Amino acid sequence: MKHFPIFLDVEGRDIAVSGGDETALAKLRLLTKTDAKLTVYSAAPNADIHALADSGQLTLVHRAIEAADMAGKALVYAANEDANEDRRVVTIAREAGVLVNHVDNLETSDFITPAMVDRDPVVVAIGTEGAAPVLARAIKAELEESLPPALGSLARVAKGFRQLAQALPFGRKRRTFWSDYYSRVGPRAFDKGGETALADTLEHLLAEHMNARPEIGSVTFVGSGPGDPDLLTVKARRALHDTDVVIHDRLVTPGILDLARREALIVNAGKRGFGPSTPQAEINAMLVRHASKGRHVVRLKSGDATVFGRLDEEFDACAAAGVSCSVIPGITAASAAAAGIGRSLTRRGRNSSVRLITGHDVEGYAEHDWRALARPGEVVAIYMGKKSARFLQGRLMMHGAAPDTPVTVVESATCANQRVIASELAYLSEDIAEADMSGPALVLYGLAPRGTEAIARPKREVAQ
Ligand code: SAH
Repeated sequence: MKHFPIFLDVEGRDIAVSGGDETALAKLRLLTKTDAKLTVYSAAPNADIHALADSGQLTLVHRAIEAADMAGKALVYAANEDANEDRRVVTIAREAGVLVNHVDNLETSDFITPAMVDRDPVVVAIGTEGAAPVLARAIKAELEESLPPALGSLARVAKGFRQLAQALPFGRKRRTFWSDYYSRVGPRAFDKGGETALADTLEHLLAEHMNARPEIGSVTFVGSGPGDPDLLTVKARRALHDTDVVIHDRLVTPGILDLARREALIVNAGKRGFGPSTPQAEINAMLVRHASKGRHVVRLKSGDATVFGRLDEEFDACAAAGVSCSVIPGITAASAAAAGIGRSLTRRGRNSSVRLITGHDVEGYAEHDWRALARPGEVVAIYMGKKSARFLQGRLMMHGAAPDTPVTVVESATCANQRVIASELAYLSEDIAEADMSGPALVLYGLAPRGTEAIARPKREVAQ
């Protein structure tokens, strides 16, 4: 982000516009909406600018702007439609330490004016750092349509009511009150009685909310999917948007956490496969503690919460404490990895079942029904299989699996840095070591990436 968006308080401040024609006028149309003191410097201002001066909206100085004029200016616009003159204005503004906008010239500007959607006091500013003005306009058009014109009135009246609304405790209760006002009660009252009806409406609504029963907390176990925020379910997004506390696992990506409500408390309860971890009992206690305070908690787990996510332990602990729980499913890593290589996990005539197994469990490397897994045509999605690759390889071959059974490792499935390593059972641990993976990886035993059948693998000597 080269340009940091801020909202500048310009009430009563001096803003200078150098220029007297259409370019200057375009900026003045925006600037006259503010409470700043505007001065236009131009030897020959056009009729529209004259009219603005006549109506008292700005002061007109009939000459070019000079260095001495910069004193006390908050902002300066160089809008002369004359490259040399604009450059001169930029120079004298910079020398005086005043922020300057060289209209339509990103490189020589200290700041840029964004596209705006104005529902004063609600103002949306859209910037693309000059990269895509067309896109900025399209976004503006969309927002203009979706933000009701009454929004400004709703917000203006609400601003005067903020003090009274503090009678409601900070947090969810107050938030629910305001969201009720903005999304339901306020627009309806505005339609019936206009802005004057809103103050009464707020009073009634506040009384209603003051008398409401205390909120009861809850825990929602949410599957965040394999990492790409676009692969969250709509329900998961909504839960994140509406939560007080997010307790997440290590694999949940920053892009997904960004979608949590801005004021939400975010706790990383990450557990590394073999490394330091937050003890399970502590996580359970944390869930119960937050929910008991009436908070809505999202327990965010990568992939699907019901797959190698220790969901039952947490669910049971919450239920035992009388906390209400629900589960929102997500896309598990096996589905993501299969999608990443364009293969289905089951296929008619090949395998009518698929197993999800873990490479290690609480006791170390996990034992499985190796004989069944080693049968031709089996497909196994192996979670946490990186470290246990050599063990898996040995067990499967010992139970009769063909050394050239295709095995594909998908690292960071669905993420921008997804990597696919096509291997064979005999070479699996070597290939994994060679690939030097740092992201989470799913091992798909029995599947090769689409299109690789034709590529003959150079045969290497099988490690004994
Ligand atoms: N509940 C999760 C699994 C948690 S166990 C799910 O349903 O996906 C953690 C393991 O999941 C990792 O060791 C890795 O094997 C796998 N995994 C999670 N995210 C992954 C991703 N984006 N790409 C590949 N494997 C992933």
